[in-house]
Amino acid sequence: MVKIAIIGGGIEGLVTAYHLSKQKNLSLTLFEKEKDLGGLLSCFKPLKDSDYLEKYYHHWFRTDTDLLTFLKKEKLDRGLEWLESSTAIYQNGKMSPFMTPLDLLKYPHLNLIQKLRLGLVTLYLQKNKNWKSFENQTAHHWLKKTCGQKAYQTVWEPLLKGKFNDFYQKVSMAWMWSRIYFRGHSKAPGETKERLAYYKGGTQKLIDHLEKKLLNRGVQIKKNTPVKKTEKRKKGFLITDHKNKQGKFDRVICALPTPVFLKLTSDLPLTYRKKMEKTKYLGATCLVLVSKKSISPYYWTNISDPAFPFLALIEHTNLIPKKRYQNHHLIYLGNYLPSDHAYFSLTAKELFNRFFYHLQKINPNLTKKDIKKYFLFKNKYAQHLVEKNFSQNIPDYQTPISGLYLANFTQIFPEDRGTSAAIREAEKLTNLVLNEI
Ligand SMILES: Cc1cc2nc3c(=O)[nH]c(=O)nc-3n(C[C@H](O)[C@H](O)[C@H](O)COP(=O)(O)OP(=O)(O)OC[C@H]3O[C@@H](n4cnc5c(N)ncnc54)[C@H](O)[C@@H]3O)c2cc1C
Repeated sequence: MVKIAIIGGGIEGLVTAYHLSKQKNLSLTLFEKEKDLGGLLSCFKPLKDSDYLEKYYHHWFRTDTDLLTFLKKEKLDRGLEWLESSTAIYQNGKMSPFMTPLDLLKYPHLNLIQKLRLGLVTLYLQKNKNWKSFENQTAHHWLKKTCGQKAYQTVWEPLLKGKFNDFYQKVSMAWMWSRIYFRGHSKAPGETKERLAYYKGGTQKLIDHLEKKLLNRGVQIKKNTPVKKTEKRKKGFLITDHKNKQGKFDRVICALPTPVFLKLTSDLPLTYRKKMEKTKYLGATCLVLVSKKSISPYYWTNISDPAFPFLALIEHTNLIPKKRYQNHHLIYLGNYLPSDHAYFSLTAKELFNRFFYHLQKINPNLTKKDIKKYFLFKNKYAQHLVEKNFSQNIPDYQTPISGLYLANFTQIFPEDRGTSAAIREAEKLTNLVLNEI
């Protein structure tokens, strides 16, 4: 029996464990720091007896083909529903829909020439497959040059800031290309409006399915068990958890963010460590409101107002029927932030009090009494910074230590990180590990 440890029970660790667990000659142990599996995809119940809800807003596109194929193979695809989405920009106290060419024409913050230029550039990016030509340019520079200063500052800059905060000027145009290209291809033939997929009952069903399969196949799942140290021994590896319990393994797969992997792994060559330390991450905070009143008429609202303390308002119940949550409206207030940002040390109540005044600007009829509950979720490794020429720095699955593997979303490129790509990477990693056994 070959003993393999998988550290990290996010979707990538879970799906890797799932594939490996089909092999009879492997003994698998999965370590997860939290009490729940799923990592960034994990869920909670916002109301007693309601459906599960993702801690961080999640939906899928038609271009998420690896996920769709996986769900089909697992006979889980019947749970998928395709729902009409809606997007808007909140700017200068005004909410403007921003989905269709007509929305763009009616958009009040740009003149006709600026709108036409913006529309043509977007169309060009949707039709152009050659992402490599964007690799050595920043989105900041390229979009400003092609769309013009005003359209860039009005539309693109708030989006880049929303995702990358202070690093927004460093983001590769290849990353932006992938967002626009894949989104442009996410409609089924004949579909005029964009539809997004959601798993009926919450993504918890996928996590539960994977957990059940793993347990049935004899995988040991250790939740609430952060790994503290991974050390190379003459033969195999020694893993130490937070309670100083130790275990020996022949192979170790770290399905972890790079900084966490570097922290718990000793014996890595200095040049490799130094290179890997350059990867920058942003964290995410999501304040989830359970409200008696709706706040925005749209599913997704980008906030383009520097005075606002959050950058995206996602009204989940404008995509999913609110009857599944006892007729409450569920609203995410999201931010991507550097991990030392003050919000990471604030409580849900403190953040709610900071945010509430701004919510009233969007919906003046909202009172604090309308908000029945709120929840705060924080993760310091939610998105990596995709800089220029990123493809030259993608780490291999195989680390310089034989038998030690790294798998995380910094290996996904040029596509943006996401559930579907994690499922695809997990399959590739499994094949590599099996080939080396
Ligand atoms: C706000 C937000 C919205 C998103 N929306 C979408 C979306 O709409 N659609 C989509 O497809 N994708 C979306 N994503 C991206 C998607 O969630 C991720 O790409 C995916 O979940 C990453 O999975 P992972 O397994 O690579 O990483 P993670 O989920 O980060 O998994 C890493 C796991 O390792 C565990 N861990 C950490 N340290 C230790 C330790 N020392 N010992 C043991 N375990 C440890 C963590 O607890 C975690 O479970 C979103 C992400 C965010 C942040």
